[in-house]
Amino acid sequence: MINNNTPDQQGRFGDFGGRYVPETLMPLVLELEQVWTAAKVDPVFIEQMDGYLRDYVGRPSAIYHAERLSDHFGGAKIWFKRDELNHTGAHKINNCLGQVLLAKRMGKTRIIAETGAGQHGVATATVAARFGLECVVFMGAKDIERQKPNVFRMKLLGAQIVPVTSGTGTLKDAMNEALRDWVTNVDNTFYVIGTAAGPHPYPEMVRDLQSVIGREAREQILQREGRLPDACVACIGGGSNAIGLFYPFLDDKQVRLIGVEAAGKGLQTGEHAASLSGGKPGILHGNRTYLLQDDDGQIADAHSISAGLDYPGIGPEHSYLHDIGRVEYLSATDKEALDSFQLCTRLEGIIPALEPAHALARVADLATDLGKDGLIVMNMCGRGDKDVFAVAGHLGVEI
Ligand SMILES: *Cc1c(COP(=O)(O)O)cnc(C)c1O
Repeated sequence: MINNNTPDQQGRFGDFGGRYVPETLMPLVLELEQVWTAAKVDPVFIEQMDGYLRDYVGRPSAIYHAERLSDHFGGAKIWFKRDELNHTGAHKINNCLGQVLLAKRMGKTRIIAETGAGQHGVATATVAARFGLECVVFMGAKDIERQKPNVFRMKLLGAQIVPVTSGTGTLKDAMNEALRDWVTNVDNTFYVIGTAAGPHPYPEMVRDLQSVIGREAREQILQREGRLPDACVACIGGGSNAIGLFYPFLDDKQVRLIGVEAAGKGLQTGEHAASLSGGKPGILHGNRTYLLQDDDGQIADAHSISAGLDYPGIGPEHSYLHDIGRVEYLSATDKEALDSFQLCTRLEGIIPALEPAHALARVADLATDLGKDGLIVMNMCGRGDKDVFAVAGHLGVEI
């Protein structure tokens, strides 16, 4: 794997990242770092990963020229990297598969995970079922109420759901509970984190596992167009699909990398999930990064039409890439995402998840800026089947 943005000994990307964990967790994260460092260059592990990615996940995912959308915007040629075609409908399984294979390698028999909207919980429960491992998913009590279909899916897959009532009963509280459980059950338990955040080595490990997206996209676009794209665009919740697409392009300085955060009801309203555009540095879930917080440093609840973008932090590598100016971070509102969702469905026959619909909103402007000779690769990181009820609600339609 490529290694041009390696965190230092403390797991820091510049001023961000690190491992801010209690004493009791330190041996666990150090062991995990050791095991991951060895596994990722072990031909046996790599072959195992490649096999499951091919036969179970369905990789490589296609790259697709979105011709009618390109014509509609009247500018650059737009390509979708189609990670929505993966098993379970999004990029999350790339990461879950890698971490669960690592858990097996470590002889662990119990998998734990946190989930907000339930997408990471479903992907983890899926892979745990496949490998016959016990799976426990921590989920905020409020989210359990809001995400019933995914709760039922996880139960069908054999997972146990633990409701979390501390704090605001949402994702950040579920993540705290999962970290606590991990300390208590360290002997048999592996904690699968769902985005490129958490204490080192998680941000680096999740990035490495999701980089399959960018490696494939780079090769595919070179083959189809004979050159690199002018820009790569991806939506950002915690930042795993974005860093997965961007990482293999980091050294290609001529390629603009653009992350799109959720601006919710508008950045000025305070009801959004844009940690970089509207937050400031602090420490949460074992790492230092940009966070949504009030004046007293209390973590604020994020808001977005898309449950998957609704995390009050962002992976530390993005904070670093933001501060050094290598990646541009923009945002899109709920309304813009909803419009892009409908446009993509009508023009391409692809129902996008609401998360990548945010990315598409900025692709529209970018296509015009770049003009006819421009080339854009956007990560279509999830499909929208999960969102049709929510979208109906927002459009005032009863199903
Ligand atoms: C979970 C999710 C996201 C947000 O997570 P990242 O770590 O930022 O990628 C984005 N899109 C989809 C489809 C998701 O399921």
